Amino acid sequence: MRGVASRPSQRNNTKDSIDVSSDDKNAPEATSFADLGLSEKVLSAVTDAGYTTPTPIQTGAIPHALEGKDILGIAQTGTGKTASFVLPMLTRLEKGRARARMPRTLILEPTRELAAQVEENFIKYGKNSRASVALLIGGVSFDDQLRKLERGVDVLIATPGRLLDHFERGKLLLTGVEILVIDEADRMLDMGFIPDIERICRLLPFSRQTLFFSATMPPEITKLTEQFLHAPVRIEVSRASSTGENIAQRLVKSKSTGWAKRETLRNLIRAEADELKNAIIFCNRKVDVSELFRSLVRHEFDAGALHGDMDQRARTTMLENFRAGKLKLLVASDVAARGLDIPDVSHVFNFDVPIHAEDYVHRIGRTGRAGRKGKAFTIATRADAKYLDAIEKLIGNQFEWHDGDLTTLSGDDAEDEKPKRGRGRATRGGRSSDQAEKPKKPRRGRSKQDEEAAVDRAPSPSSETPDEAASSKPHRAARKDTIRSDNQKRAEKQRPRRGDRDDDAGEVVGFGDDMPAFMKVPAKV
Ligand code: AMP
Repeated sequence: MRGVASRPSQRNNTKDSIDVSSDDKNAPEATSFADLGLSEKVLSAVTDAGYTTPTPIQTGAIPHALEGKDILGIAQTGTGKTASFVLPMLTRLEKGRARARMPRTLILEPTRELAAQVEENFIKYGKNSRASVALLIGGVSFDDQLRKLERGVDVLIATPGRLLDHFERGKLLLTGVEILVIDEADRMLDMGFIPDIERICRLLPFSRQTLFFSATMPPEITKLTEQFLHAPVRIEVSRASSTGENIAQRLVKSKSTGWAKRETLRNLIRAEADELKNAIIFCNRKVDVSELFRSLVRHEFDAGALHGDMDQRARTTMLENFRAGKLKLLVASDVAARGLDIPDVSHVFNFDVPIHAEDYVHRIGRTGRAGRKGKAFTIATRADAKYLDAIEKLIGNQFEWHDGDLTTLSGDDAEDEKPKRGRGRATRGGRSSDQAEKPKKPRRGRSKQDEEAAVDRAPSPSSETPDEAASSKPHRAARKDTIRSDNQKRAEKQRPRRGDRDDDAGEVVGFGDDMPAFMKVPAKV
C-alpha cells in the first residue's frame, strides 16, 4: 500500500500510544498551519478559507496523521476536528491514483448530515487538489455516486448501513482503502452502528491507517479502539464550551402538561422578542416536534420542524430556509439537529429537559457559536429533577431560574407535589402523571432512533386544548409539505432500515478569522 508502513500482526492501542496534552513537553507547538507539514495546495486552500491558526486537535493530529500513524482523537464537533483529518488526507492523496470501484480512503459518519458536512470540507480544502469525493448516504438517489465509484474515487464518505448495502451488491471493493476515518464513534454507538463498523473494519486491509474520533470514550468504544487501532497517538481536547461562558442559561418553571409548557414557551418567545433573531426549539420526542410545530404555526409564529421522519428534501429545504433567515423558529429533535453548524442562532429553547445530559451540551452549543452571545432556556417541570441534576453534574454548574423556581409555581400543579429540593425542584417521590409518561433511561448501544420511536409510542402529554386550538388561526399552507411528510413517514415507519438510520443534510459555515475562544482551549490534562 502506498505510503503506509507495514504493520505488526497484532493491533494494540494502549502500549505504544503517545498522549498529546497541554502539559506534554513533547506536544507539538505549531502556531501556524505552515508548521504542520501540509502540502502547498492544501495550505493555500486553508488560507483562502480564512483560517490562520490551527486548533488544538489540528495541531495535535495533523503531523502524526501525515506520518501515517493511527490517531485516537477525543474531541467533539466544534473543535475543528473535521479539518484535522481532511487536511492530512488531502495532502497524502496527492500521490497516487484511484482505481475503479476501489476507494482509496473511507470516512464513516453516523448521519447523512455529518457526511454532507465532511464532503463540504473536502470541497473547501480540496479546491486545489484533484482528489475525487463520493458520498454514500441514505435518503438520496445514488446513481451519480455509483457512476463516480465506477470511475474511481479517492475519498468515499459513507454512513455504515448504506456502505454495506453497496458492498453486498458488489458495487464496491474495500481492499484498496489506505486510510479509514471513523468519526463521531460514540454517536455510532448510540445509533446502533457498532456491529456494522466492526464488519467494515474486517473488510478493510489490515495495513491501513485508522483515524478515530469520538467525543466520549464509553467502554464499548474503548474496546473498539483496542481492536482496530494500532499504537495510536491519543489527542484529547477539552469539551467545547461545556461551561457555555458566552451562553446565558436559564431554567423556566412550568406545569407539566403539554399545553402549559407550550404556553410557557410562547410567553418566553414573546418576552425575548427584542433579542430573538432565530431559535432552535428542542423536544425529546418526534411526536412532540410535530405537535409543537403545528401549535406554534396556529399561534402565528414563524416556525418550521425538523425530525428524522421527514424526507430528505423537506429537511434540506427547512434547513436552508432557517439558515437563510427565512424561518425564525425551528422545532427539532436531537437526532435531526445533531452536528448542525449554523453560526448565528440567537436562542435555544429546550421544550423538554433532555434525558441524556450530554444532549444538553449539544443542544445549547447550537447558539453562542463563533464567539457570539447566545441564550438557552430550558423549560423545567417537577418531574425533571433527576435529569437536571445529571446536567448540572456534567456542566459543573448550577442552573439559575429565569423568574423564580418551581416553588413559586401557582395553581393545582404546585399543590400536587411539594418540592423536596432546596432550590425548588422536586425529587421523584410520588409518581405524577408526567413521570408516568417519561421514557425509561435508554441503555447504551440501543439505537437513538429506536429510542425516539419507543418514546413516540408512549401517550403524548401535549395534546392541544380546545382553547388553544380556538385561539389560534390556521397558517397551514406554508408548511403543508412538512405536515404531509410527517404523516406519510409516521405511517410507513416501523423500525429504522439500514440505510435510513442516518440523518439530515446541511452545509458547513466556517468561522473565518473569528475563531471562538473555546476552540483555542488547549488539550485537556
Ligand atoms: P468541526 O469541529 O470540524 O465541526 O468544525 C467546527 C467549525 O470550525 C467549522 O465551521 C469549521 O469550518 C471551523 N474551523 C475549523 N478549523 C478552524 C480553524 N483553524 N480556525 C477557525 N475555524 C475553524
